[in-house]
Amino acid sequence: MKTKELEIVKSTALKNKPSKDQIPFGTTFTDHMFTMHWEEQKGWHEPKIGPYEPLTLDPAAMIFHYGQTVFEGLKAYRTEDNRILLFRPEKNVQRLNLSSERLSIPPVEEDVLLDYLQILIQLEQDWVPSTTGTSLYIRPFIIATEPNLAVGPSKSYTLMIILSPVGSYFPGGIEPVVINVEDQFTRAVKGGTGMAKTAGNYSSGYQAQASAKKKGNADVLWLDGVHKKYIEEVGSMNIFFKIKGEVVTPELNGSILKGITRMSIIELLNEWEIPFVERRISIDELYQAYEDGLVEEVFGTGTAAVISPVGELNWLGKKMVINNHQIGELSQKLYDTITGIQTGKVEDVFNWTV
Ligand code: PMP
Repeated sequence: MKTKELEIVKSTALKNKPSKDQIPFGTTFTDHMFTMHWEEQKGWHEPKIGPYEPLTLDPAAMIFHYGQTVFEGLKAYRTEDNRILLFRPEKNVQRLNLSSERLSIPPVEEDVLLDYLQILIQLEQDWVPSTTGTSLYIRPFIIATEPNLAVGPSKSYTLMIILSPVGSYFPGGIEPVVINVEDQFTRAVKGGTGMAKTAGNYSSGYQAQASAKKKGNADVLWLDGVHKKYIEEVGSMNIFFKIKGEVVTPELNGSILKGITRMSIIELLNEWEIPFVERRISIDELYQAYEDGLVEEVFGTGTAAVISPVGELNWLGKKMVINNHQIGELSQKLYDTITGIQTGKVEDVFNWTV
């Protein structure tokens, strides 16, 4: 481990942990956080685990003005025999660097950050909940801190890791959701920032999500920004379709986030020898396949819910009811396998867990 210079200051006022069955999403944080700073002369320096606390930032800090920031999201799971597992965390650290590159933020040394992350989780291990479906959500992020209103990359940054215990996304297992196909707003375009995990990609989706919710949808399915035709992804999930026995997911085109769940599903489909293709798929093609009775399953994939079956898609007043609002066989099998590996119940033949 290259973590000699890590400073650890333990909190003297430990917090109460949330009760097992009442873990809210994203509003409870553990006792400690990780911080590290970047300046041109020193590179990434001063790694520290200290008490979770508010920050003091100059109002001119560039993060507030030009949104130079990136983030990641992964989880730590508790197994029945009380081990704590991370699911492919090196992929999150790699993606953090990819996002940083797009936002002109200096890269981190991946293996070193991974070590810091593991030391933080070890220190906070009592915060990893044990009830089925619960986990400790891990949020690494980087912000531009230089006080400067001139438009351009910041000369200083802070990287932080905060931890939040989270409940089950669907307390009763997985449940099919209703999704609106967004025909007005755009999330991302090729050449933009869609493939990066950066703040503006999310806040720019709120308007579309709010109007979809008003009409009874849980989220939106984004189409490409140029033709408003090709399917991209859901708010924070990639999307898969099972059409006439073949699984299809939109190919990565620069505007779609390369999901780690997506990547894992593709590896599982190949392993199981299920016909699979990554390609461009238009909403018209999907609708035609639906009309022809060929759409067998639709599911979203991401760290939050792992697999989120889609029971209904609404597009320009047309409704596609998928698999009679039931959970598809493949969706269930993928969910059981991935959550099984994450929690140590299914043998990890791919060596995905750490
Ligand atoms: N797309 C977007 C836009 C996301 O924010 C996420 C969540 N990180 C995903 C897809 C799914 O990615 P992952 O499987 O790595 O969670």
